Amino acid sequence: RVSMAKSKFEYVRDFETDDTCLPNCWIVVRLDGRNFHRFAEQHEFKKPNDDRALHLMTRCAQTVMQELEDIAIAYGQSDEYSFVFKKKSKWFKRRASKFMTHVVSQFASSYVFYWKDYFKDQQLLYPPGFDGRIVLYPSNQNLKDYLSWRQADCHINNLYNTVFWMLVQRSGLTPVQAQDRLQGTLAGDKNEILFSEFNINYNNEPLMYRKGTVLIWQKVNEVMTKKIKLPKESEEKEVEVTRTRTKVVPLHCDIIGEQFWEEYPEILAE
Ligand code: ATP
Ligand code: ATP
Ligand code: MG
Ligand code: MG
Ligand code: MG
Ligand code: MG
Repeated sequence: RVSMAKSKFEYVRDFETDDTCLPNCWIVVRLDGRNFHRFAEQHEFKKPNDDRALHLMTRCAQTVMQELEDIAIAYGQSDEYSFVFKKKSKWFKRRASKFMTHVVSQFASSYVFYWKDYFKDQQLLYPPGFDGRIVLYPSNQNLKDYLSWRQADCHINNLYNTVFWMLVQRSGLTPVQAQDRLQGTLAGDKNEILFSEFNINYNNEPLMYRKGTVLIWQKVNEVMTKKIKLPKESEEKEVEVTRTRTKVVPLHCDIIGEQFWEEYPEILAE
């Protein structure tokens, strides 16, 4: 590339501010759908949990992990996803705006790109948007607590939404009546309403709804057949070869307890 002489306008670059992320910290980018309450209504999301929407969110998050560098783990629920960059990442000199904008734009374009794979005949009515924020966590415990916080939020919201929509869809309450009924109730009360009025054991609800989705890298063995030509033979021969590939795998498990981190120690290692 030809290096160009500096123009008299070059000084405006100095107005850019430094946004380098502190070294050695976990860099978390969380995105969230803009006004998805309305988006869900307009696109006839099934309440309280639309599987198409949840799977599409996860497809987009997998794309983000595959396309961008240094993401160790991601966690998603509802219209949000969090991406955790390795604490030693040097990607884009750790510039916060680069991390955040690449994550959010890659996610948003994927959401539109893959929409029809999940929603089939349901037309996308307008271009959705996502907000992003970036937070640094200096210790492993801070990071675990962050992810626990998001999963606890998933649990609280999903329990509430499950009862709320049962009261609306099965008992014919208006949304305001259902809200009043649940005012001041504790988790135990909500479990009890589900069990006694709707014969639902909350613990048997799908794990994806109750726990959200964790994305991690895992080694998988892929067996494929390859055509090779041996020097001494004239015919091509088919042989089976096993390749180890690292893939982004979705899990719907508890990440609040220590068990998950004991099972996958490599996530926090460097
Ligand atoms: P904001 O722009 O402030 O984020 P919002 O309307 O997106 O506003 P959130 O708190 O992010 O508010 O809530 C997300 C909304 O999207 C909720 O109303 C939730 O019910 C709906 N939603 C998201 N995903 C699904 C899904 N898979 N199934 C059903 N509803 C969903
Ligand atoms: P980075 O990710 O660092 O931005 P880049 O490849 O996008 O890498 P840029 O400096 O942004 O690098 O340059 C944009 C590139 O896209 C140039 O090579 C340019 O030739 C090409 N490009 C963009 N728009 C057009 C266009 N309308 N017609 C032809 N080429 C284009
Ligand atoms: Mg919000
Ligand atoms: Mg939202
Ligand atoms: Mg949200
Ligand atoms: Mg460019």
